Amino acid sequence: MKDRTCSLSSFSTYLHKGFDLRRHARRMADARTGPDISPASIFLALFHAFVFRLPSVQQLETELSHSYLQNWIGAERAFRDDTLRYSLCSFKLEPLEQLLVESNRRLKRRKALDAGRVQGRLVAALDGVEVLSSFSRRCESCLERRVTEKEKTGQTRERLQYYHRAVGCQLVSSLVKPFLAVEWLRPGEGEDTAALRLLARLPQLYGSRFFDILLLDSLYAQAPVLELAQQTGWDVVITLKQEKRDLYQDALGLFQARGPDQIFSASQEGKTYAVRLWEESGLPFTQDYPRPLRVVRTQEEVTETHYRGDQKQTETTSHEWVWISTLAASAFPAPVVRRLGHLRWKNENNGWMDLTQHWAFKHGFLHACRHRPQHRPPSGKRELVPNHGLAAVTLILLIAFALCTAFVLRHSKRARRDHLTGLAVAAQLRSGLSKAPPSIRAPTESPSAPNLG
Ligand SMILES: [Zn+2]
Repeated sequence: MKDRTCSLSSFSTYLHKGFDLRRHARRMADARTGPDISPASIFLALFHAFVFRLPSVQQLETELSHSYLQNWIGAERAFRDDTLRYSLCSFKLEPLEQLLVESNRRLKRRKALDAGRVQGRLVAALDGVEVLSSFSRRCESCLERRVTEKEKTGQTRERLQYYHRAVGCQLVSSLVKPFLAVEWLRPGEGEDTAALRLLARLPQLYGSRFFDILLLDSLYAQAPVLELAQQTGWDVVITLKQEKRDLYQDALGLFQARGPDQIFSASQEGKTYAVRLWEESGLPFTQDYPRPLRVVRTQEEVTETHYRGDQKQTETTSHEWVWISTLAASAFPAPVVRRLGHLRWKNENNGWMDLTQHWAFKHGFLHACRHRPQHRPPSGKRELVPNHGLAAVTLILLIAFALCTAFVLRHSKRARRDHLTGLAVAAQLRSGLSKAPPSIRAPTESPSAPNLG
């Protein structure tokens, strides 16, 4: 029997019935006047490029020359890279963010985020990512840094480098790991400032209890972050690093004089962990945030078996961890705090890393692009509209990422049964596009429904 669970038509139905993608697409807007390729078509074209993991804008151009893709995105004709750039650089970000928020809300309502809850709680994490860097191309919102390079002669020289960096908040306890929002670092500010702005915006977008626990790196371990989390009602687990933290030294001093409170072993992903664990409640964080916090420290011997040819090799390494947390000891025993601290998302599929490697995230093609519409601000003189290209592309990527992984994990029995990778599913969906053009056109619309364009 033909298995259609992974077909493009089922994906299309999922998007339009489940997430109202077409209604959202119609709300997209940019600063062009009277364009014949609508912002909805531009959005759907790039969404398609991400879903099918097209490797480049050139590849998207090629695909757009086929009528089946034009049909799918509601465009009257083919269009090229310059139309994409002209539109995306002036894209309105609000409708994109609304679609991301609405999609995540629907995923939660349908319990797609429930598997993996920790003691019944949803867990999110903050993480930063560098999106692009350049020595030559710069725009008005570039960050700058000095980079030391070694030349062929052996001499070193300093060069000014331009780059863009963002902080994202991602759900990490569930199988589907959607990003909730991103915030871009502005010139001259630190990642902690952007993180605070992001955390302050999240309750406005989602309400305060969309998730329950926030995982943070020690970079964000600052009184304003803890205060904001407390006001919002989030518990935190912060991974402390050795540098600069009085609390880290206090904790180590406290634990040095005594043996571990617990000794246990755990296995995960082919590794075994021999864990010695200490915990203490009621340590003040800093003078400017005197609320007492819980500290959990572990020493872990991690044993891993490698195969080199036929040779089995066992390797053991030692690690030390310190976490601080606001979680109550009664509901979250220390080994659970440890597990939260170790929740892996950065290096596995579905983190920023995955997006940069397998979702063609490095989209320099819009950076410092001057091919964009003009406007006349109240001050009088006509000027280019602000370039939103990078932010728009990032939001479209995060929408595609959330909806694709949710579809694969929740709706494609075959993907689960055959352990198909995301890339294999993308290839299948893409091949479906050219095989069955009529059936994929808006299966939820009546024949008389207006075209998207
Ligand atoms: Zn820039």
